[in-house]
Amino acid sequence: MIVIMDEQADEQAREAVLAVLSAAGTGAFATRQRDRAMLIAEGEPATSLAETIAAMPGVAGITVVPGTHRLTSRAYQPADSVVQVSDVAVGGGDFVVAAGPCAVESREQLSRVASAVAASGATMLRGGAFKPRTSPYSFQGLGFDGLEMLAEQRSHTAIPTVTEVLEPAHVQRVAEFADVLQIGTRNMQNFPLLREAGRSGHPVLLKRGFAATVEEWLSSAEYIMCHGSDRVILCERGIRSYEPATRFTLDLSAIPVVKRLSHLPVIVDPSHAAGRAYLVRPLSLAAAAVGADGIIVDVHADPQSALCDGGQAIVCDDFAELMEALERVLGALGRSLAKLPSAVRRPG
Ligand code: PEP
Ligand code: MN
Repeated sequence: MIVIMDEQADEQAREAVLAVLSAAGTGAFATRQRDRAMLIAEGEPATSLAETIAAMPGVAGITVVPGTHRLTSRAYQPADSVVQVSDVAVGGGDFVVAAGPCAVESREQLSRVASAVAASGATMLRGGAFKPRTSPYSFQGLGFDGLEMLAEQRSHTAIPTVTEVLEPAHVQRVAEFADVLQIGTRNMQNFPLLREAGRSGHPVLLKRGFAATVEEWLSSAEYIMCHGSDRVILCERGIRSYEPATRFTLDLSAIPVVKRLSHLPVIVDPSHAAGRAYLVRPLSLAAAAVGADGIIVDVHADPQSALCDGGQAIVCDDFAELMEALERVLGALGRSLAKLPSAVRRPG
């Protein structure tokens, strides 16, 4: 049960609700969503308790949401969420394309890719400055220098940026440089990081853990939301299976499954799922066809020289072609590519 307090409700009213819940043996979690104070009760309270609370002073309304997913659930919010990222609406019907290198490697490398993807109509620039690498001896990213390069490209191309944050202590600083905080597959259940990202109120791109069920993935989104953010974008990026022909197995069924359970927008990362450049185009088109709200794609001007994940990066010309193919598939479905009204398509 979610208890939404009146805008004018004071501390006393909130304490009174907590006391009634506590007397009934029900704990509650106090939070805020869109400037509204709310209390999220643990468990599923009896109808009589729900009715008592609904009638209490300071209570604007209650929503009874079955199961453990509350704020992420369609029962709480039947309409699709639209996450506004600068000028880009994610989940608003138009298909959003985030593109860029897996890792920011240098000012020149990022600038080449950023201008190319902007010119082809990408609506977000991706690029990792803090890289979660399996081996400690692999390139770990340029850190804060990389973030500055991303911010520079944002001012050149007017495209919002998405980048990964690895540590709770970095959340505030990364949020100053980038428009979307990415939480990677390896950190999907890093609860301190989820809490801190939620408290920042910044848009968060939450990737699915590669061994996580949809249920666990939504629980992680719930962590972010119950700590104060209502701007979560989910990202399916493949799960581990026994099949070695692809790096991971892209779970396309997760898109309609999640859309049925949750109002949150869902995008697809075909690059990290497939691990092979030739699979990026067919999987991107499939993502559009299955109802995803967008994709996030690795693009590199010279994949052979990439310091991270070169095998899955497509070159800039192939990206331009992919955008044309997406436009055709989306058109057949009565949808369109998202466009950036303010994008300045000039070399940065
Ligand atoms: C990435 O997008 O750079 C990345 C590391 O992805 P994932 O967390 O899905 O492996
Ligand atoms: Mn990568």
